[in-house]
Amino acid sequence: MNILMVVSASVIVFTLGASIGSFINVVVYRLPAGLSILWPPSRCPHCLNQLKAYDNVPVLGWVWLKGRCRYCKSKISVRYPVVEAITGIVFLLVFFIFKVSILTISYWAFCSWLLALSLIDLDTMTLPNALTQSGLVVGVIFQMMVGFLPEASWEALINHLMKAIVGAILGLWLFDAIAIIGSIAFGKAAMGAGDAKLAAMMGAWLGWKYLLLASFVACALGALAGGGAMMRSRQLGQKIPFGPFLALGSVITLFGGEAILSSYLRLFFPAS
Ligand SMILES: [Zn+2]
Repeated sequence: MNILMVVSASVIVFTLGASIGSFINVVVYRLPAGLSILWPPSRCPHCLNQLKAYDNVPVLGWVWLKGRCRYCKSKISVRYPVVEAITGIVFLLVFFIFKVSILTISYWAFCSWLLALSLIDLDTMTLPNALTQSGLVVGVIFQMMVGFLPEASWEALINHLMKAIVGAILGLWLFDAIAIIGSIAFGKAAMGAGDAKLAAMMGAWLGWKYLLLASFVACALGALAGGGAMMRSRQLGQKIPFGPFLALGSVITLFGGEAILSSYLRLFFPAS
């Protein structure tokens, strides 16, 4: 591939990701409020004026409006362009690693679900069933397509369906077990039911092996952040949402899972 093709492909993929990020902003704002995701079109939450198409351009729209509504001049949160930019960058990373393949489209969808769920969990401390359940279904469908499409093999489709189901069930069990142990050890629920449903969705997309790795990474990051938060606020039992850590663990596993697992195995089996 020559450099011009790489640059134009990157611009297209980033723009696609940033546009999905713009939609994620809408979902995160409207879904917990019980509003329709599709109607009405984007508008200013203060003056309710509908956004012009050219102000709705991901990242750039916010920049040329200098972060203020065109009509009432109220501030637009910097979170909107940041979420759009992050989605664009994640889409680019997935594209560079998995190239032009069904895996790339599958992981674009996975990361979009993870980002929306993380932001809603940060805002509201809940993981809506509408997202975890639809994510589980979409994950199973993508897992089957990843099995079937390369060689049109029905056997591979069944294998991947089983992989998705085993991963999802393990996700549910794993987090129920953690919740039970946590409630015995700390006398309160350590995990919400939403976390188990998110883990089931991750299991469908990742399979059981990478689900375990992603959960381990999530627990390690959560323990670090929880320790840090406790030291700052000197307050025990402060609740922090766990969904963002599960999402982060998943993304780290997507990008580095093979490298992490193989270097880990080399520690114990140096010859292999
Ligand atoms: Zn306004």
